[in-house]
Amino acid sequence: MAKQEQIKILFASFEAVPFSKTGGLGDVAGSLPSYVLSPKYDIRVILPKLSLIPEKYKEKMKPLCNFTVPLGWRNVYCGIEVLKLGKITYYFLDNEYYFSRSRVYGEFDDGERVAFFSKAILESIVHLDDFMPDVIHCNDWHTALVPVFLHEQYMGIPGFDKIKTIFTIHNLKFQGQFSDFVIDDICGLSGTPAENQLRIGQAANYMQGALKYVEKITTVSPSYADEICTKYFGEGLDWLFNERRDRLVGILNGIDDKTLDPENDKALAAPFNSENLEGKAKCKEALQKELGLEVNPNVPLFAIISRLTEQKGMDLVTYNLPMFADGKMQLVVLGTGDSQYEEAFAYYAEKYPRSIACALKFDEALSHRIYAGSDAFLMPSKFEPCGLSQLMAMRYGCLPIVRETGGLKDTVAPFNKYTKEGTGFSFANYNAHELKEQIGRAYDLYTNDKKTWDSVVVQAMQKDYSWKQSAKEYRKLYSSLVK
Ligand code: ADP
Repeated sequence: MAKQEQIKILFASFEAVPFSKTGGLGDVAGSLPSYVLSPKYDIRVILPKLSLIPEKYKEKMKPLCNFTVPLGWRNVYCGIEVLKLGKITYYFLDNEYYFSRSRVYGEFDDGERVAFFSKAILESIVHLDDFMPDVIHCNDWHTALVPVFLHEQYMGIPGFDKIKTIFTIHNLKFQGQFSDFVIDDICGLSGTPAENQLRIGQAANYMQGALKYVEKITTVSPSYADEICTKYFGEGLDWLFNERRDRLVGILNGIDDKTLDPENDKALAAPFNSENLEGKAKCKEALQKELGLEVNPNVPLFAIISRLTEQKGMDLVTYNLPMFADGKMQLVVLGTGDSQYEEAFAYYAEKYPRSIACALKFDEALSHRIYAGSDAFLMPSKFEPCGLSQLMAMRYGCLPIVRETGGLKDTVAPFNKYTKEGTGFSFANYNAHELKEQIGRAYDLYTNDKKTWDSVVVQAMQKDYSWKQSAKEYRKLYSSLVK
């Protein structure tokens, strides 16, 4: 295929596996591009060069150039470093002042850090080895200012006027809202039409700005795309989604089924697959030992790997913690988050160490051992744009118990006791007793009909959670913008 027919996509994200990850966005940015890449679609990823990126990657980055980025009244240094990993080219934008921090987000000046990143993406384009993108694919509020700056400040520049933008919402809860002081001081946009597009009362809302300017808005599951048009899920922006309904599509996330494979996962005590679950039993035994739980294959082991927040249904879980006290069921919790949940899990784990364990940290390898060694996975989210944890759980034969919302509804088929079909358990309302009932159903099936349980595990493991189908939909979307 002739080179000029290639569609060029610049995929912009603040985090991507294996360089940095705080949640699902990192997983998506680290896996989707390699499924989109093909002779017709040249997709490259642009990221901040965060100081917490492991040294082994930083050492391999090659400096490309440096320039200054105008940001409000400032002129700020920016370097570009390039790394080719696998088939994907990554561009890292370097500025020690903004990106040399001990964590990815949660800094006092996040509003300025992400504004710099967005502006620097546009400034960098002319330096990217002749890679003038047809589409910039922005992800979450950290890159929401790209379409805003593009339309307000770059449209007159040759080449830039043809660039189309897509904005993907991974989590609507986080919109990037700051005092309206940033519109002038940081963005340098006061007095332009963008001022009104960003403003909500006395605040600036970066995501709102993106939604006003982009050609396409996507979110990470079809159900969530419908939900955010309602007041309950819309987080104050439902009116805008309704206005832009024709631009909004839901494309389900996938997982990287090559790296997430219980048959080839170095973190596990033993490999297994859907045809032979012996290795899974070994993983459970090793996990029970590691966590100090009673080592007993007949006791169902439930797991949580999550941010410990209200969104993830932690109120429903903590309400039901006494269910795990008598040792008939076990629970392991891996996560960090709000102190009331951390304290509740820590208290119960200390009081009932043989049946409840908790690790209040972020630990990738342990998360794999838990997915592999556990029987069921609790994810009773209040809302869930897509959710990747339930996909990983199913891939590793750990049956999810979920609330029917967003991507959870789209990906987990509830067990039907008559047909014996399903890949997990689910309930409709945000209610602790409904969760309790499903935990009870899972317990009954595991302890009274292990044969059927195992058949559900096999169904869960055999479902296709890869990016193949969704990558096709993204390609179609990119093509539809480049006429
Ligand atoms: P969200 O992005 O809303 O946090 P997702 O389910 O989409 O939720 O993705 C969460 C990702 O982060 C999954 O890959 C999950 O395994 C991982 N994860 C969450 N908490 C931890 C933790 N404490 N340690 C390791 N991995 C974690």
